[in-house]
Amino acid sequence: MIKLNEHYTEIGNNYLFAEITKRVKEYKEKHPDKIVISLGIGDVTQAIVPAVIEAIHKATDEMANPKTLRGYAPYEGYDFLIDAILKHDFLERGIAIEADEIFVSDGAKSDTGNIGDILGYENQIAITDPAYPVYVDTNKMNGREIELLPCTPENHFVPAFPAKTADVIYLCYPNNPTGTVLTKEQLKKWVDYALEHQSLILFDAAYEAFISQPNIPHSIYEIEGAQKVAIEFRSFSKTAGFTGMRAGYTIVPKALTAQTSKGETLSLNMMWKRRQSTKFNGTAYIVQRGAEAIFTPDGQKQIRRVINYYMENAKIIKRSLEALGLVTYGGVNAPYIWVQTPNHISSWEFFDLLLNKGQVVGTPGSGFGQAGEGFFRFTAFGNRKSTLEAVERIKKMFS
Ligand code: PLP
Repeated sequence: MIKLNEHYTEIGNNYLFAEITKRVKEYKEKHPDKIVISLGIGDVTQAIVPAVIEAIHKATDEMANPKTLRGYAPYEGYDFLIDAILKHDFLERGIAIEADEIFVSDGAKSDTGNIGDILGYENQIAITDPAYPVYVDTNKMNGREIELLPCTPENHFVPAFPAKTADVIYLCYPNNPTGTVLTKEQLKKWVDYALEHQSLILFDAAYEAFISQPNIPHSIYEIEGAQKVAIEFRSFSKTAGFTGMRAGYTIVPKALTAQTSKGETLSLNMMWKRRQSTKFNGTAYIVQRGAEAIFTPDGQKQIRRVINYYMENAKIIKRSLEALGLVTYGGVNAPYIWVQTPNHISSWEFFDLLLNKGQVVGTPGSGFGQAGEGFFRFTAFGNRKSTLEAVERIKKMFS
């Protein structure tokens, strides 16, 4: 008889985006003449930059020749990409990470989801609320106990320490969905907590490239002691339009250890390498060559232009909503604008209102957790024309 991992029955059916798609489809069927604009799901709209495209073409040509063909890739990534990441993202920022602490992957979703493979099921987990749903769902899949840490205007979106001592803590800054950040001093408090309680911080820095203000850490390793307590996840998805290409990386410092039930101390770096070499196929050579090109001077200039374009969208959305008297958060160091719904209507009521009256789609905050109820997320990843059109429609709705 086949026995199910019953924890899978405890997680929802990926309800959020399925429900959005369903409601939009129903609306379009009833109103075929109306054009709906989406500032919802958060996928990118701008083309991959020329430096990356050129590198991909070149790598593709290499595959056409048996002399330059590349077969199975190293599980942890090619040296050329690891060296570029190391130099640009860490050494140039004064962070002493080593090459064998970097694991190239197919993106932060896989790594934030799979990291639980090497962590015991009895770990007490703390996750900020609202949050990127992968953290809660993957821990539920393994039956772990989770404490949610509400992030609301009342605590300025800075989570309080958990009531029950946490073994593993998920932090995501700049945050999806709230768009808020932690200062160095605020993040240091969490690193100190982890050092004191021997906890592990899983730090999701997928949006670090969108930080515009000083004193906001781009990496948790800017905080002293963090290499003893933190794993960091990075993504090329939003930084360089890689949502369809698939690439990211994870830092697992060699200083990080965990205990077995027999009291042995083992390296998490070694365990993650073991996990990846068994279960992960590696990121495609062509894609890794594309990712390497992000770090060239041309690549950097080009992706910065695209990031600035998205952040100009964020400014437009934030300014327009505030001009209507709506209360917004985020949108300065992150491509997400988190809006308090007017008159305290529910997130889904606001969704229906925007869709029916303005034909604009966003994401109901309650889909990211209980503390997201009464909020709504807009993304800055649209193109300029539809972003401007969306805010015009919202203005009309409210006037
Ligand atoms: N982490 C956060 C906070 C995200 O918002 C996302 C994507 O939306 C991811 C990770 C996934 O990134 P990737 O596309 O690299 O898998």
